[in-house]
Amino acid sequence: MTGADLTTLGIGGKFLDLLVPEDGNELSLMMRRIHSEGRSFSVLGGGSNVLVTDEDMETPVILTTSMKSVRINREGERLLVTCGAGVALRDLMAMTLREGWSGLEFAPGIPGTVGGAVVGNAGSRYGTIGQSVHSVRLMRPGGASTEIGGEDIEWGYRMSGLQREELSIVWEVAFSFRESDRNAVLAEAKRSAAIRGMQPVGRRTAGCVFMNPPEDSAGRLLDLAGCKGLSVGGAVVSDIHANFIENAEGASAADVAKLADVCRERVSDIFGVRLRFELKSIGMSLGDCGG
Ligand SMILES: Cc1cc2nc3c(=O)[nH]c(=O)nc-3n(C[C@H](O)[C@H](O)[C@H](O)COP(=O)(O)OP(=O)(O)OC[C@H]3O[C@@H](n4cnc5c(N)ncnc54)[C@H](O)[C@@H]3O)c2cc1C
Repeated sequence: MTGADLTTLGIGGKFLDLLVPEDGNELSLMMRRIHSEGRSFSVLGGGSNVLVTDEDMETPVILTTSMKSVRINREGERLLVTCGAGVALRDLMAMTLREGWSGLEFAPGIPGTVGGAVVGNAGSRYGTIGQSVHSVRLMRPGGASTEIGGEDIEWGYRMSGLQREELSIVWEVAFSFRESDRNAVLAEAKRSAAIRGMQPVGRRTAGCVFMNPPEDSAGRLLDLAGCKGLSVGGAVVSDIHANFIENAEGASAADVAKLADVCRERVSDIFGVRLRFELKSIGMSLGDCGG
């Protein structure tokens, strides 16, 4: 399997040591082995927010998408839904909408897994996933699992305190949803889905490349800086939304990284704003601030 197979951008070389645990026990054993060998590793969920190196990768890559357990406990009007990190956010959201449970109405159109969403506090202007997290089970380097309460995790714009836990993996998340009126939940989800019309849905992208700077929009600055349509190799800045880079024609990871740098320089030169990467990377680094 390659980065191209396992990411929404469709870019990246071979994973020579791809590990695919199906549950916490398997993950623990794998992490114990890696730790005892003194090696590092990378984590991949749905691959919808990452740029993977063009080079073949010898470093182990742990793919979470087979950890798909779901357990439901009802406590009065509160639903506690415990999911494996590899459950697709789309599937979890569909279940909540079907049942009339409130909490994920902001999520239509956000691809990827529950684990990736929680680590990066995925969201939209209508809400974020951290608001519904009851607790997280984290596998630490060496393979020991710990549980952290949602209130003990720092949640910010496209960030969580979990990102500081180096070489740890979110392997299970318990969500707390509220039983609500099904029509109201559906109407709210429909309102959130409407913003997708302004994004290049159906094209090969990895979502927004840059985070919004305080009180502004990265897409607006990139658009005003004339970035729409700029290209490097097969990578092109979307003509629909300037904060998306599309793999239009056999782009390499190097093309995408270079194009992102060109855009960031333009915004910096014109507006004096240094955009920070929302896009993450595996096997390579992106610019000098994040990724
Ligand atoms: C068309 C499109 C629209 C999008 N719209 C939005 C949006 O509206 N809002 C939004 O927030 N995002 C959006 N995104 C970005 C992306 O979908 C989210 O960031 C998503 O939550 C990433 O989840 P993933 O499983 O794909 O993570 P990946 O892309 O696989 O990984 C992202 C990062 O999280 C780490 N990671 C993944 N899983 C785990 C885990 N279990 N434990 C520890 N670390 C982990 C990876 O190492 C990597 O650093 C969009 C993307 C696309 C392609």
